[in-house]
Amino acid sequence: MTSRSGAQKRILVVEDEGAIRQTLRYNLTREGYQVSEASTGTSALSAARREHPDLILLDLMLPELNGLEVCRVLRQEMSTPILILTAKGTELDKVVGLQIGADDYVTKPFSLNELLARVSALLRRSEMSAQQQAETREVEEFGGFRIDRAARTVHVDGSELRLAPKEFDLLSLLVLNPGRVLSRQTIIQRVWGSKFFGDAKTVDVHVRWLREKFESFDRLPFRITTVFGVGYRLDRLDGQQAASTA
Ligand code: CA
Repeated sequence: MTSRSGAQKRILVVEDEGAIRQTLRYNLTREGYQVSEASTGTSALSAARREHPDLILLDLMLPELNGLEVCRVLRQEMSTPILILTAKGTELDKVVGLQIGADDYVTKPFSLNELLARVSALLRRSEMSAQQQAETREVEEFGGFRIDRAARTVHVDGSELRLAPKEFDLLSLLVLNPGRVLSRQTIIQRVWGSKFFGDAKTVDVHVRWLREKFESFDRLPFRITTVFGVGYRLDRLDGQQAASTA
């Protein structure tokens, strides 16, 4: 249906009814999302904390801890978009859900097309705002590494590293998305632009050059990891997870 240009999005499905959970998993997976599941409120909290999904589909009627409670707790910890599933006729839950920070809701029984459309709209919205936030962050500094996007400079432990323009753009993109796999296609679009007709191998070559340039620093606070068959991921070695605000 939709072409997935970004890295594969991860969705946490929280639903205690097995049949609904399976339907959701099946259809979301078919749309290209990576799906994980939780069937209770407490397991939803730990899964969200552990996995930092890109979106949470949250049923409100759950054992242990109800969905509203889960939503309230999660909202204090992360800005991951939350789409709540409410049963028909529970208008109040819906209202409360939105008040405590859910981003949108779908009423059960839901149409799959509507649900998928809302999922993709929410993801698009949050991707845009994450990007806007990130792009206003001109200087990023961690563990002795410093990138200044306005001055287009990179320093490691105080010494400047000279990078070619595309190397800089590639590194900057990777640093913006720590812990996330970026496909070669995404990287090409974001670094070289949609008018680029060259080979995806260009990305591999630039990653190799970047690695070579950083090779001499033994206390580098990140690593560029090859994700076989997909693309690349920047892993921060200073214990910082993927931006949990993304
Ligand atoms: Ca339920």
